[in-house]
Amino acid sequence: MHFASDNSGPVHPEVLTALAEANQGYQMAYGADTLMNEVRDQVRGIFEAPGAAVYLVATGTAANSLALATLSQPWETVFCSPVAHIHEDECNAPEFYSGAKLTLVPGGDKMSPEALRLSIEGEETRGVHGPQRGPVSITQVTERGSVYTLCELQALCRVAKDYDLPVHMDGARFTNALVALNCSPAEMTWKAGVDAVSFGGTKNGLMGVEAVVFFDESKAWEFELRRKRGAHLFSKHRFLSAQMAAYLKDDLWLRSARQANANCAQLANGLRAAGATFLHEPQANMIFASFPRSLHRKLHDAGAVYHLWGDTLEGTDEDEMLACRFVCDWSNPPEQIEQFLSLL
Ligand SMILES: *Cc1c(COP(=O)(O)O)cnc(C)c1O
Repeated sequence: MHFASDNSGPVHPEVLTALAEANQGYQMAYGADTLMNEVRDQVRGIFEAPGAAVYLVATGTAANSLALATLSQPWETVFCSPVAHIHEDECNAPEFYSGAKLTLVPGGDKMSPEALRLSIEGEETRGVHGPQRGPVSITQVTERGSVYTLCELQALCRVAKDYDLPVHMDGARFTNALVALNCSPAEMTWKAGVDAVSFGGTKNGLMGVEAVVFFDESKAWEFELRRKRGAHLFSKHRFLSAQMAAYLKDDLWLRSARQANANCAQLANGLRAAGATFLHEPQANMIFASFPRSLHRKLHDAGAVYHLWGDTLEGTDEDEMLACRFVCDWSNPPEQIEQFLSLL
């Protein structure tokens, strides 16, 4: 019963098979492999963006940092949520790669257009002395498991466009959001006003690949240079390409995300019936819930693995409500979900 994170699970067997197949013979290095040509076309196809620039890197931190560096200047700010992964979980890599600073838009999990506008208005008030306005970064699925609706995305992008600022989407869980909204990748990105997306794969069954997609092709060469300078141009690149090709083949990306979201919905229903309260309504594959220490202890003793969120099991007040996080992926065995539900 392992629900700690969606990168704790195994690599999808279809991906491992594709890696073994890619391990035949010779291929040009550094992204000149024939598979990458297919991947580029496939990604352009699913995004309905024939001119998009498509690159692969091995971590989400690299994808976000290199994308933001390409969209910003060192004297600019990147607007994001206070709980954004680029702020809380990337050890300042976005600042390191871009030289820009992050400006936290007051609020919680989701950014609101009003708060974003106020934050943008608050910059560029000190002429040459202050930071200049830079890109807006939106996380979809958010770090708390919420999904921005298309209207919400459009509203945020409209605010950015009012100031001529580019929009980046951290899509580490892009497909979980996509299947939750039941929309197209184009609708969730460039049609809403997103300029570049980190299109996640690792948390949805890959061994370690994220794509960076720029809908404005003129960014391509700069990104390539930044990726190399940032030590993220893989020489045996075919093994990145092979993973992404397998991901998009036969809808593996969609199948995996649907399964992950369905697993999460099952857990959420069980938790709800057991009286848990949700800190954020689960919409994709993550749950933030709160329930008494006694139930945590029972789950823990039976072998369930998940993170407590700012709380600890130690303590004697068995009725105290402790917050926690559950994350599902495509791989959660049904019998383990059953076992978890029966414990509840
Ligand atoms: C996991 C995650 C990433 C990528 O993290 P890496 O550990 O660098 O692969 C980026 N953004 C969000 C929201 C994430 O959850």
